[in-house]
Amino acid sequence: MNTKYIFVTGGVVSSLGKGIISASIGKLLLARGYKVTIQKFDPYINIDPGTLNPYEHGECYVTDDGMETDLDLGHYERFTGIRTTRNNSITTGRIYKTVIDRERHGDYLGKTIQVVPHITDEIKRRMLREGLNEGLDFVITEVGGTIGDIESAPFMEAIRQLRWQLGRDAVCVHLTYVPYLKAADELKTKPTQHSVKELQGMGIQPDILVLRTERHLDDGLRMKVASFCNVDLECVVQSEDMPSIYEVPVSMQRQGLDADILRKIGIPVGETPAMKSWHDFLQKQRSATCEVHVALVGKYDLQDAYKSIRESLNLAGIYNNVKTKIHFINSEGITADNVAEKLDGMAGILICPGFGQRGIEGKIIAAEYGRTHDLPTFGICLGMQMMVIEFARNVLGYKDAHSTEMAPDTQHPVIDLMEEQKTITGMGGTMRLGAYDCEIKEGSKTWKAYSTSSSKPSTLNSKLVQERHRHRYEFNNIYLDDYEQKGMQCVGRNPGNDLVEIVEIPQNKWYIGTQFHPEYASTVIHPHPLFMSFIKACIDGTTEA
Ligand code: GLN
Repeated sequence: MNTKYIFVTGGVVSSLGKGIISASIGKLLLARGYKVTIQKFDPYINIDPGTLNPYEHGECYVTDDGMETDLDLGHYERFTGIRTTRNNSITTGRIYKTVIDRERHGDYLGKTIQVVPHITDEIKRRMLREGLNEGLDFVITEVGGTIGDIESAPFMEAIRQLRWQLGRDAVCVHLTYVPYLKAADELKTKPTQHSVKELQGMGIQPDILVLRTERHLDDGLRMKVASFCNVDLECVVQSEDMPSIYEVPVSMQRQGLDADILRKIGIPVGETPAMKSWHDFLQKQRSATCEVHVALVGKYDLQDAYKSIRESLNLAGIYNNVKTKIHFINSEGITADNVAEKLDGMAGILICPGFGQRGIEGKIIAAEYGRTHDLPTFGICLGMQMMVIEFARNVLGYKDAHSTEMAPDTQHPVIDLMEEQKTITGMGGTMRLGAYDCEIKEGSKTWKAYSTSSSKPSTLNSKLVQERHRHRYEFNNIYLDDYEQKGMQCVGRNPGNDLVEIVEIPQNKWYIGTQFHPEYASTVIHPHPLFMSFIKACIDGTTEA
């Protein structure tokens, strides 16, 4: 079968959950045995979201091959287990850069370079994943932004052309919003009609409509939308608010969204896949009622800023039969005087990644509290670095110990730049990014977490794991002996260059810091072993008390 293309666009308002719908379609097609990938096209001009403040765009998700991408790629991976790459996250900036570089190279032979056809051709080339030879059955392309945005117009034009070119091999799914007006006690379809009209005005007739709604839509209302928008009734699907985003694929399957797509393309629909492990997970999620309280110590008071960490904690909770209750604690407000009060009732602490000065002293205080009160503590990237600094200051006695990121002149740079990083001046894509090997020390707590986990992604075995990175600074190996003698062990190192990947304090119940980001590798079917064992330690600590 030649590759089929599914385009997912959104109308009316943003934040409707296009990423979740795209990921759900991916999951459902995968469950039918198809080879699928999901990609995101974002209309902004940044080359990638790596340089964006999380307040602008939520977390930056990192792929195995080291691309800094939109957080929707995290949904794609968590839902499907598919490993995405730099080809799955495209921005207007990247498209223009390719075209402009080519123009400077003289490749256009004196032609005038224009949005149509040069920019749209480059968009089409990437939407088709030309030259990648991946043998895919389906490519799902989600376009960021909302229909009518000036900046997404070239993407829409590319989709229009591709529909024409590909015929039945392309399907357009459009996601809109049906608001409920309380005063009138009515659900309103007009915004959807307008949105579809706008799409039609660009020459795109949607095949399938997914209506986001807070209330159930009856058949009469779906019929109305179908007839106003030239869409078959069974292709008007609703996406009601769900208690969890992980219920969405099942709801979509129940309404036949995947079957509709197959029918539109002309592929025999066949039996509905059972998706047993997914249903088992949902069952666990529904029956997990006991709560475990985890403090998330970070500086961004925004749900999406630590999306993958939050999801990893939730998933690990569910597989440990509990509900993880995450309490965001702004590290800027943590002082030695109030830390006990702020962390009161917490079964564990997760110290978040980050950059720059703001809020780091609070993270150091939280790390000290976790260490001295033997509370399960998990430091990720900057969080791990803060654990290392705290240990140097309070156990090794280096009062001014610091990272050269925040204190370039410190006498004790326990976290420092690698030689090869010192000459780098550019900001975008210049960190240590993507998956690197990490060898785990046998017998350590970390090793136990990895080796006893029943849920290991196929890339993990118990001693050599690959985990994703996004940082510039490293543990300074000059101090390693000092640390090990005083009780903080390096239990994970890069076998190639000896960089410290994981530290732990074996005397504590669970005190582990990772230079890498395990949260990027946690999926619904394979929660990450370190999150699993962290949550387990939190539960064990609670029941002991
Ligand atoms: N700012 C730190 C570094 O660059 C940590 C980065 C992070 O937490 N992702 O090394």
